[in-house]
Amino acid sequence: MRVRVAILGAGGRMGSEVVRAVEADDELELVARIGRGDALETMVDAGAEVAVDFTVPDAAPRNVAFALDHGVHAVVGTTGLGDDVLDDFAARAGAANVVVAPNFALGAVLMMRFAALAAPFFEAAEIVERHHDRKLDAPSGTSLRTAALMGDARGRAWRPGPGERGFDAAGVRIHSLRLPGSVAHQEVLFGGVGETLTIRHDSLDRTSFMPGVVLAVKRVASTPGLTVGLEHLLGV
Ligand code: NAP
Repeated sequence: MRVRVAILGAGGRMGSEVVRAVEADDELELVARIGRGDALETMVDAGAEVAVDFTVPDAAPRNVAFALDHGVHAVVGTTGLGDDVLDDFAARAGAANVVVAPNFALGAVLMMRFAALAAPFFEAAEIVERHHDRKLDAPSGTSLRTAALMGDARGRAWRPGPGERGFDAAGVRIHSLRLPGSVAHQEVLFGGVGETLTIRHDSLDRTSFMPGVVLAVKRVASTPGLTVGLEHLLGV
């Protein structure tokens, strides 16, 4: 039996890539493409088992709440969602599960993991993230999550840097660049005694996110409640 998938934001840059990835996978069946202004009931009428949301931060909370309330599992790639929204997803999950990931690229998940591994061993760290100039949120969801994972792994304060520069994420300064021609790029730079360490990841094309999205679509039904971060599905 193929998994029946609805895509929210199907006409967008990410959504249209997800349409191609779902159509290309023998284990998945695309049953609904939902755009702005389309009725959310479409996913229920089409018998969707999983809804994938790549829309905008204003729309995703309502879309995902609707899916969960109607027993449809959700895979959420939309970034810029606050903790209050994630708490709401957790409260609604039960009959249906939800996987939220700020970055579905496997290399980006490993970048975050490596950054967390390095965090206890250096006194200071900064993040430089670069995205295309139509990205709505800044700093990126990936950079905020990287800083949070680094903070958890470190367990003590970072050495403060001089001046007011970038966005302060619990002591890690995040610098956000928005340039046409970019997709999604991030460097995590650590400073220590006479040495620096740089961990870098580049998504060069939106296809980079698709193996992670497809994995989450296939696994969400057997992943109870709310899961934040693809690393939990990869076991890293
Ligand atoms: P995009 O090209 O602007 O696509 C967003 C799409 O959502 C548009 O087609 C838009 O339709 C549609 N939309 C807006 N409101 C909607 C609603 N209420 N219901 C259904 N569809 C709605 O943006 P994108 O570059 O694809 O990015 C989408 C999101 O994914 C962003 O939050 C981005 O940061 C995130 N992202 C996540 C990852 C990851 O790995 N997690 C990777 C890349 C991007 P209209 O054009 O009619 O407004």
